[in-house]
Amino acid sequence: MDKEVEEQVKEYVRSHFVDDASGHDWHHIERVYNMALKIAEKEGADRTIVGIAALLHDIGIRREIECGLDHSEYGASLSKKYLLEIGFDPSEIDRVVEAIREHRYGKQIKPKSLEGRVLQDADMLDAIGAIGIARAFAYGGARGALIYNPTEKVENYDPFKVKSTITHFKEKLLNIKDRFNTKTAKEIGLERHRFMEKFLEEFYNEIAGER
Ligand code: FE
Repeated sequence: MDKEVEEQVKEYVRSHFVDDASGHDWHHIERVYNMALKIAEKEGADRTIVGIAALLHDIGIRREIECGLDHSEYGASLSKKYLLEIGFDPSEIDRVVEAIREHRYGKQIKPKSLEGRVLQDADMLDAIGAIGIARAFAYGGARGALIYNPTEKVENYDPFKVKSTITHFKEKLLNIKDRFNTKTAKEIGLERHRFMEKFLEEFYNEIAGER
């Protein structure tokens, strides 16, 4: 990957996310970027496409939280415009943009390209485990969600419906382990999944007054 272009994109993304308190801060982007490159290496995916797509994958998230726009669609068009502006190799732009468009878990589709699947896996890994737990409550807070609502029904996950964060675990986060595309992510994901199960077990024990 061209180091100078990579640094330029990093700087652009960092400035976008510096004050984010919804769990989509710069450190989320950086973790997804590092994890995506690690998976790309093991799975033989294109490093440049994966790296640039990972850096830009959540660029549309604020508009989703503020006005309900789908961040993968909006982020894909914003990224295309930006990459054209900075003179990124035009033959690679569509591959980056497609990976961003398809990365969203809630779309229930398997990304067509290996690069898209790697990005989706890296992003899903950051939604589970200890980091995932911390991010889930931050995201819930940013959207005005309750921590826990025992009367709430568990349904099929709808990213545009705000539910309590504990319900969010049941509708989405606990199902992620079955959605990984690559063997590499599946292995890392299983450990993180078990940690979330332990957390929820403890949560319910405390709620029940057993601890
Ligand atoms: Fe993300």
